[in-house]
Amino acid sequence: MLTSSSTLSDIRAKITARERISSEDALYLWREAPDADMRSLASQVRARFHSPGACTYLVMRIINYTNVCVAQCDYCAFYKLPGQDGGYVLTHEQVFAKLDELLAMGGDLVGFNGGFNPQLSLDYYCDLFRAIRQRYGERLEFYALTIAEFMYLADHANLSYLAAAERLKQAGVRWITGGGSEILTEDFRRRHSKFKYTVADYFAAQRALVESGLRTSATMVIGFDETIEERIEHLERTRAFQDSLISASLISASPVAAGSTDSALSSFLCWTYKPYFTQLGGIEITTSEYLRHLALSRIYLDNILRIRTSVLTQNERALEGLLYGADDFDLPIEDEVTQLAGATISLNFDQLLATARTLGFTPTYRHVASGWNQPA
Ligand code: SF4
Repeated sequence: MLTSSSTLSDIRAKITARERISSEDALYLWREAPDADMRSLASQVRARFHSPGACTYLVMRIINYTNVCVAQCDYCAFYKLPGQDGGYVLTHEQVFAKLDELLAMGGDLVGFNGGFNPQLSLDYYCDLFRAIRQRYGERLEFYALTIAEFMYLADHANLSYLAAAERLKQAGVRWITGGGSEILTEDFRRRHSKFKYTVADYFAAQRALVESGLRTSATMVIGFDETIEERIEHLERTRAFQDSLISASLISASPVAAGSTDSALSSFLCWTYKPYFTQLGGIEITTSEYLRHLALSRIYLDNILRIRTSVLTQNERALEGLLYGADDFDLPIEDEVTQLAGATISLNFDQLLATARTLGFTPTYRHVASGWNQPA
């Protein structure tokens, strides 16, 4: 049980002195700190990494290349079991058409996110990614898979995580995101996602990705039935993982001083659970709760450069996250997984960017494809 003997002014003094807050401090902030304090403390930590008023954005689409999945997470409205009506796998031509459309809309980043499809071999993925690299070169960049899919793929191919990462690298893969993490506590996984993986496996796979030279990121999803203690445990595990990479000299001790080109967890993206048409069901959390969580994440994750706010799940109001410590956001074109569970997407990018400006920020397009070895 987390209890803190700190007061708000003790915690504020720690942050001003650039000291870390503890899990107990985080719980205290969550329970006791008014919104205005959450904003100002998060902005203080944000200013260590980014100029006040500066923010960046990406234009991207998620391509859901298959919806066939055997993991059966109870919070998912997207998957079909093998053999079930409605299951699909996209052809290369269908993927290319989506990529062409993305480029035509000014985007240059795509994330692939599908399911644990036992009919797809490692060769399917390598062929797809090699074909994309050959066809598009450096005109776009892609997040090849989430860690969750990568783990399934490696197991299915009977390969170690390192060996599977090497095969993907040879096919032109540079990035595998931290997606599929949801809430990183073993108890949460047992409650909702028992066929997926353990938390220990998740970090073992992510470490193998870093060791193999692939780039990755941290993610989180809130708003299921998790407790605040579980949210804080997720943040603690993420911060500790980044620390472990730093102490093993796998990345620079100072992501900012190093220009972040070698920061392993290059960003942290949190989005919210959409409960519609899922087995778990439930009620969406409010945007206010999401914004407070963003602030807590910015304060807690003092070794991660970017905190990203989720336009995909919070729409225009996600941009208020810039006032709560976030510095980066996506302008998404498509993501079937969240859309099937209730997310709506606005393609009025001008309006979204205007909202960021109204809030006092100058958004700059972050072209991942033009410099894949730059921070993303
Ligand atoms: S969340 Fe992902 S792993 Fe879980 S059932 Fe849905 S597609 Fe499968």
